[in-house]
Amino acid sequence: MLQIGDVLVSLDVVEREFVCNLSACRGACCIEGDAGAPITEEEHALLKTLLPEVWDDLTPAAREVIRAQGVAYVDEEGDLVTSIVNGKDCVFTCYGEDGMCMCAIEKAFREGRISFYKPLSCHLYPVRISRYPSFTAVNYHRWKICKAAEVLGRKEVVKVYRFLREPLIRCFGQEWYDELDGAAEAYLQQKERGEL
Ligand code: SF4
Repeated sequence: MLQIGDVLVSLDVVEREFVCNLSACRGACCIEGDAGAPITEEEHALLKTLLPEVWDDLTPAAREVIRAQGVAYVDEEGDLVTSIVNGKDCVFTCYGEDGMCMCAIEKAFREGRISFYKPLSCHLYPVRISRYPSFTAVNYHRWKICKAAEVLGRKEVVKVYRFLREPLIRCFGQEWYDELDGAAEAYLQQKERGEL
């Protein structure tokens, strides 16, 4: 565990390698799992206002779910998450011509139609953030659908925290990230020298 301020970063985030391999997974994280993506109350409000911008990209089934229950719900663990279709697909999933899953929010952002990229938890995946009264935990969440990303990460030698530089800065700020980067480098060098 590395501690940066009041944030505890699991060593998996520093030691393991990861680079999303979309040609292998085809964006499966948008449509697998048994709950939607965790979002904050602020993101919930924002997603409601952005809905008209992405509506035409959503599937008919997703529109039905949104009409019936809205863009989010509280899951079994008490977390606010995006609504899902058929118990697994995020309602904001849309499909490219090649059948690849895409996030309709991210697509609208990339096309310059909105200024919100996508929920932070999606941007941060495969890292999950847990907030407690006295500290915040950053953990690497391993999921079999991302197997090809671990293989590609090892090939390109990209650690999880480096792959997630942009969302980690979005979450904790540049100064925090720079501190993590330095601490991670020092840790990895010590480990390589057999000092740990
Ligand atoms: S997080 Fe996993 S499933 Fe999602 S795009 Fe990356 S490798 Fe694919």
